[in-house]
Amino acid sequence: MSEQLKERLSYDRTIDCVQCGYCLPACPTYETMEKETHSPRGRINLIKMVAEGKAAVEELKEPIEKCLGCMACTVVCPTNVQYGELLESAKTVMEEETGKPRPQRWMESFLYKEFFPSSKWMDFLGNAAWLYQKTGIQKAAGHFGLLKRISEPLGQMESVLPAMPPPKLRKQRANRYVRMRPAKAKVGFFRGCIMDSVFFESNENTLELLLRSGAEIVIPEQQTCCGALHGHSGKKEEATELAKRNIEAFEEENFDYIVNNAGGCGARLIEYATLFEEGTTWHKRALQFTHRVKDISEVLVEMDGLIFNKSLDVAVTYQPSCHLRNVQKVTNEPIDLLKRIPGLTLKELDRPEFCCGSAGVYNIVNYEEAMDILDVKMKDVCQTGPDRIITSNPGCLLQMKLGVEREGKSGVMDSVHIVDLLMEADPLPK
Ligand code: SF4
Ligand code: SF4
Repeated sequence: MSEQLKERLSYDRTIDCVQCGYCLPACPTYETMEKETHSPRGRINLIKMVAEGKAAVEELKEPIEKCLGCMACTVVCPTNVQYGELLESAKTVMEEETGKPRPQRWMESFLYKEFFPSSKWMDFLGNAAWLYQKTGIQKAAGHFGLLKRISEPLGQMESVLPAMPPPKLRKQRANRYVRMRPAKAKVGFFRGCIMDSVFFESNENTLELLLRSGAEIVIPEQQTCCGALHGHSGKKEEATELAKRNIEAFEEENFDYIVNNAGGCGARLIEYATLFEEGTTWHKRALQFTHRVKDISEVLVEMDGLIFNKSLDVAVTYQPSCHLRNVQKVTNEPIDLLKRIPGLTLKELDRPEFCCGSAGVYNIVNYEEAMDILDVKMKDVCQTGPDRIITSNPGCLLQMKLGVEREGKSGVMDSVHIVDLLMEADPLPK
């Protein structure tokens, strides 16, 4: 049993931690919660103790659930501890060992197995949100504070949702686009679930940027959710199933790039190979998939096919998605693109690497802790003083909008996805 638990908790990885503490200043939860158990070192130590039978699995619950999974600790660790693997192992063990009430099990089963993986449900979500905004229900609900009464975090998130496009726009989207022949590259577009429902217009802008850069684009019909939410919730089996479905979907054509525009999704996609045993066919297929996965900013810089025609008299700051920066290691490309926009002033944050507190559904399930982290981030933003905060992930985008509202700066400051800003600058083919 103990040997089994050691393997399930990736015990061998815990040995790599030399307890030096270099990761402590990088950890947002250590800074805001001020507890050793809520630091990377403390969490690793705890996993080690549970694996050795010196602590119970239940003791993992609070420290592990309060971890953002931002991976800022991995960037500064001198011994390259694979914290991401340890975190997911701990979550999987907790998921397997913890009994949950039946209604919660049903709800989770629906959300993870039916809702997120289905493009039909995502379209339904986007269209329902459009109806909600269009018919005045949103105004009435806001007036009486209905949603906030049911759930404070959901009410807050709802108040910063962008305006939804009408359902006919979704219907009009094709699965294949080409404007320039010969095309400079063949791109498979990973549409994402929340990106395609709530941020449909950002997805449209991404397609337009690629087309103007000279790409041929295919949106494989059979693709599904990346599985990030599943992996972060300890549902390894479901996450692996989704990875297989996506690998198969993108094998149908020979793509130069598999492009996404959400830092969290991209980080999951590039790690697909870790879900399979080395040497197996699925591992090889996963590697062929991951080698072509790129963030939109990387592809736009590599293709170098755009020139920005319109000057934007605006001061911006860039808030990197943790998963884009710390897992995908994409740091320079978004900055490079922003610097190409004429008239734009780029103001750097003092601590861009500090998480905004969004972290998947962290800001819903750990609302108060997420707001403490957001307040630290917003202090930095307000001192920097931009007109706009540029992000590259849907969760960060909503969280930063919420931060702007909390600071009372709505109307003078806003948060936008980088692709939306790039389109505003009227990009033309070179
Ligand atoms: S920096 Fe790395 S080795 Fe040092 S305590 Fe943190 S995780 Fe352990
Ligand atoms: S992933 Fe982020 S929150 Fe979690 S231990 Fe590492 S730095 Fe801290």
